[in-house]
Amino acid sequence: MTTKYEAVVGLEIHVQLNAATKMFCDCPNRFGDEPNQNTCPICLWFPGASAQLSREVVEKAVGVAMTLNCTINQRSRFDQKVYYYPDLPKGFQLSQFHRPLAGNGWVEITGEDGALRRLRIRTLHLEEDVAKLVHETEGKTRVSLVDFNRAGCPLVEIVTEPDMRSPYEAMEFVNAIRTLVPGAGGAECSLERGTMRVDANISLRPAGSQELNVKVEVKNMNSVRGIGDAIAYEIKRQQELIQKGEAIILHTRLWDPKSGRTLPMREKFSGPCVPDPSVPEVVISDQWLAEIKNGLPEIPARKQLRFVEEYGLTETEAAGLTVSPESADYSEAVIRAGIPARLAAQWIAGRLLPAAARRGLTLAETKITPERLAGLLALVENGKINPNAGRQLLELLFEDGRTPAEIAREQGLDQAADSGELEKILARVLAENPRAVEDFRKGRSQSLGFLTGQAVRLSGGKADPRLIRQKLEEKLRSE
Ligand code: ZN
Ligand code: MN
Repeated sequence: MTTKYEAVVGLEIHVQLNAATKMFCDCPNRFGDEPNQNTCPICLWFPGASAQLSREVVEKAVGVAMTLNCTINQRSRFDQKVYYYPDLPKGFQLSQFHRPLAGNGWVEITGEDGALRRLRIRTLHLEEDVAKLVHETEGKTRVSLVDFNRAGCPLVEIVTEPDMRSPYEAMEFVNAIRTLVPGAGGAECSLERGTMRVDANISLRPAGSQELNVKVEVKNMNSVRGIGDAIAYEIKRQQELIQKGEAIILHTRLWDPKSGRTLPMREKFSGPCVPDPSVPEVVISDQWLAEIKNGLPEIPARKQLRFVEEYGLTETEAAGLTVSPESADYSEAVIRAGIPARLAAQWIAGRLLPAAARRGLTLAETKITPERLAGLLALVENGKINPNAGRQLLELLFEDGRTPAEIAREQGLDQAADSGELEKILARVLAENPRAVEDFRKGRSQSLGFLTGQAVRLSGGKADPRLIRQKLEEKLRSE
């Protein structure tokens, strides 16, 4: 008889906070600069430099913790996580272990069976980032360089309970974090750009058992897909070991996306975690806690509800606009510019977002500000251009920085809406189709459709059929 095994997965997620400075000094918390530019005696870890904890970092971390339903510990402190490695010359990393900032949180995901599942967060703590090692080859010599720009940058580490049972659940947990945390405004959470790093702890046990067996840690996944693949690979690897009767050994492995395998990694020497005597206890008063809470942006679900109530949108329309904090803010700016909410929803969710996605751009990266989209929609709303021309105009707005009205005029998209031009077309259609005019007078109203079609054709497809039909009918009835 073969035993059925189930996977037990827990995650440790490092999230880079988007505070202006590093955690304990005023150096910019910024990436992409020349190596070792953003440094000072504190983040270079010179002996005797004294760390000053940033207020903004604490506020952003508390905001993230609240978003993840954590209980905030109003008194927390730093520990020294002792290890020696060239990326950490002072010999210890300031982190919170014994008394973390927050804990007992949770997020909800939809499981593979469609049921809601609550995954628990054990702790959420502050931690300074370490320097970055760059390995290069100079001639035949392999060299390792150290860039301290990242040293001391503010992180929160989210440690989950071992609640996940499949690669899918782990991926959904990461997706939930990637949506919720940026929504709270505290962090970007990009696996690709390294502002979020996910390590997975994986072990197996007989299905239904409660025991926790020896786990293996897997690192170095830089996409959600990679996380799922790495966990799936590790589950399979451990299953094979168990079948061969071999023991699972506690160690760390690196995911190699190219080969689709995990490989054993040489461990850093790591030692004890001892209370740090230099950084004062972090004390968050009731009042400060309340201020942070009030300053948090709306969570997506509440925002969606508000869009329904405030703007009279359907749930589907509201969901389309609130897919990200960015698109929600964008939509509100368009609506505030006087565009009816439903029209804004149709164009933003139905046309603008897909058009931006096709180009691989976020809304902010396009040339189309809310003001410019509102300009376009005002032209549509006032019948200055028809929806078809509006769609063409939207595409042009991606390339051309001028106002929608200017572009529409130059491209002749508003030509047929120009009343002089339209009058000429209508007169010509009536003059050239006496039989259809006669039919209409005899009560055959379908001939109005024919005449409308002729006018739209003469306008080169630019005129609004509804407007033409209405004008033609007025003319025919008044004659
Ligand atoms: Zn510094
Ligand atoms: Mn850590």
